[in-house]
Amino acid sequence: MQPTQLQYLKALGIDVWVDRNMPSLESAVENQSILNESAEQAASSKLRTLEKQVAKCTACVLHESRTQTVYGVGNANADWLIIGEAPGAEEDKQGEPFVGLAGELLNAMLLAIGLKREQVFIANILKCRPPNNRDPRLEEAQACENFLKKQITLIKPKIILCVGRIAAQNLLKDETPIGKMRGQRYVYADTDTDTNIPVVVTYHPAYLLRSPKEKRKSWEDLKMAVKIFNGES
Ligand code: SF4
Repeated sequence: MQPTQLQYLKALGIDVWVDRNMPSLESAVENQSILNESAEQAASSKLRTLEKQVAKCTACVLHESRTQTVYGVGNANADWLIIGEAPGAEEDKQGEPFVGLAGELLNAMLLAIGLKREQVFIANILKCRPPNNRDPRLEEAQACENFLKKQITLIKPKIILCVGRIAAQNLLKDETPIGKMRGQRYVYADTDTDTNIPVVVTYHPAYLLRSPKEKRKSWEDLKMAVKIFNGES
C-alpha cells in the first residue's frame, strides 16, 4: 500500500494492519519491470531464432530464385505491426522490407502518425521475392504463413496495419477488394494463441506513388488506426 493511502486512512481514523512480509509497492513494481524486461528479451531472442529458420527455408519454390530471405525489421516489442506483400528487387538485394521509394513513403506515413520506423515492426506475407514481382501464389502464401503467425505471437502487437490488397486478403482470409476493406475495423484472431488484434487496411505505398490522389484516403485510414489504437474507436 502506498504511504499516502496509509496517511489518508489514518487521518480517517481507520487502523491498517500491514503484513511485514508483504512486499512494498516499490519492490513489486521493480519485480514487475524485471519480469517485463526478461519477457521482452525472451521474445527478442525467439524472433532471432525464427529468423535463422526462415533464412534456411526451402518450403516453396521461391527459395530457388531469392538472393536472400527478407524476414522483417524493427522493434521486437512493437505496438504496431506493419504487414506488406512480399520483397521486391531492392528488398531482395538488401534483405530488408520496404526500402527504396516505397519504403521512404511508408516511413513518412508512419512519421505522420508520430511513429519512427524503429518503433514499429515491418514484415511481409512472403519472406522471399516472387520473380518479376508477380503476385504471390496461394501455395507460397500458405507455405510461408506460419512464419508470420509466429512473428505476430512473439511481437504481440496492439494493432496491425495491412498495406496493400495482398497483405490484407492473405492475413484476413478475405477476398473483398481493398477499396471496400478500407475504413473497416478487422480483427486478427488466432484461436491457438488466443490472439485478438485490431487490423486496419490501407493502400500499399508503391500504389500511392503511382496514384498520389489516393494519399488522402490513406491518411484517413491512418487516422482511423490511431483512434483504434488509442481506444477511441
Ligand atoms: S517464401 Fe516463405 S515458405 Fe517460401 S521459401 Fe521463402 S521463407 Fe520459405
